[in-house]
Amino acid sequence: MKSKSKRIKILDAFIDSEYAWPGGYRMLALMDDGGVLCHSCTQKEYDNIEDSIKGGHRDGWGLQDVFVHWEGPPMYCDHCGKVLESEYGDPDSGPGQQNNLY
Ligand SMILES: [Zn+2]
Repeated sequence: MKSKSKRIKILDAFIDSEYAWPGGYRMLALMDDGGVLCHSCTQKEYDNIEDSIKGGHRDGWGLQDVFVHWEGPPMYCDHCGKVLESEYGDPDSGPGQQNNLY
């Protein structure tokens, strides 16, 4: 696990910008409990998240890291339910490959 100060730095950098540099890819927050938060929820819940990291609480608000959702089916923000599309889409749902169920 990353140190508290490192995680606060990651949090602060993410609050400043949701886009990875270089590349401009949209980042998401990965929480202690494996949940995912979108950028706007991370901004709204900053105080909870910072408090959880500093206090070492196991309340699900502790930010572990940020990541880019490169590929695969959309993820959902665990707080607001917003759909978070992957950067490259879902390779298994391309045209001609979605008839398997019928
Ligand atoms: Zn959200």
